Amino acid sequence: MARDAYVNGRYVPHARAAVHVEDRGFQFADGVYEVVSVRRGRLIDEEGHLDRLDRSLHELRIAWPCDRRVLRLVMRRLLERNGVRDGLVYLQVTRGAAPRDFRFPAAARPTLVITTRRATLAPHARTGVRVVTIPDIRWKRRDIKTVGLLPQVLGKQEAAERGAFEAWQVDEDGFVTEGTSSNAWIVTADGALVTRPASHDILNGITRQSILRVAAAEGLRFEERPFRVEEAYAAREAFLSSATSFVTPVLRIDDRTIGDGAPGALSRKLFDAYLAHASGAGAS
Ligand code: PMP
Repeated sequence: MARDAYVNGRYVPHARAAVHVEDRGFQFADGVYEVVSVRRGRLIDEEGHLDRLDRSLHELRIAWPCDRRVLRLVMRRLLERNGVRDGLVYLQVTRGAAPRDFRFPAAARPTLVITTRRATLAPHARTGVRVVTIPDIRWKRRDIKTVGLLPQVLGKQEAAERGAFEAWQVDEDGFVTEGTSSNAWIVTADGALVTRPASHDILNGITRQSILRVAAAEGLRFEERPFRVEEAYAAREAFLSSATSFVTPVLRIDDRTIGDGAPGALSRKLFDAYLAHASGAGAS
């Protein structure tokens, strides 16, 4: 089946889809993005992702490239054109193309690129993964989902070279911020769910927010607070969350085994609860 991308108002063959060489996304990483998972043809937490896109654009003073309703429609059309029932939609919005100058261009239209991909979602959710810890070398506005992802590129590459699926980034005080493309969670010895609170220090994951809602609905005890690497080593369970990984158990952090080295009961329960959420409420 042909695969198309959507670029600035047009559906174009993926292989020929392109933006201008002076696009500010390319020159300055002056843009934002979103990733929405698609399961059985439904977009999971679509409104949450569009709300966060709105917030990222607002923080960087980039205009919406089109009406929000148009965006919802185009995502669906593209998924249909590309025959994607299970996979991902990527949206990138940049400040547009303009002669190179750090200052905002007086007149540039935002660039909008939408692509889709078939993918198996959360492929390691039943088996679990390894993570390694690395220093968090990112800027101080990690709450904005920008296309400036070089620290994440380096972090994920280091994780792969050390035999791990993900790298958990650690701040200067020894507290875990988050993964390179996921939020970090632990379960304490007395069964409390812990994840870092939303602030400028982390990206407030849409999956993270859904898991917190699911946990509240299930009557689970949770604490939004920072935790240190040592606390994670000693945790009963650990897991990571993202639109693509859902709830994926973490079995090892660096050279330490977490709990008994198998996916924990609470992680499995949350995965099932999240899957139910993704199949019904919140998906459309
Ligand atoms: N933190 C970072 C740095 C990420 O890139 C992602 C993935 N977008 C997440 C957390 C998880 O966010 P979400 O649940 O919205 O995918």
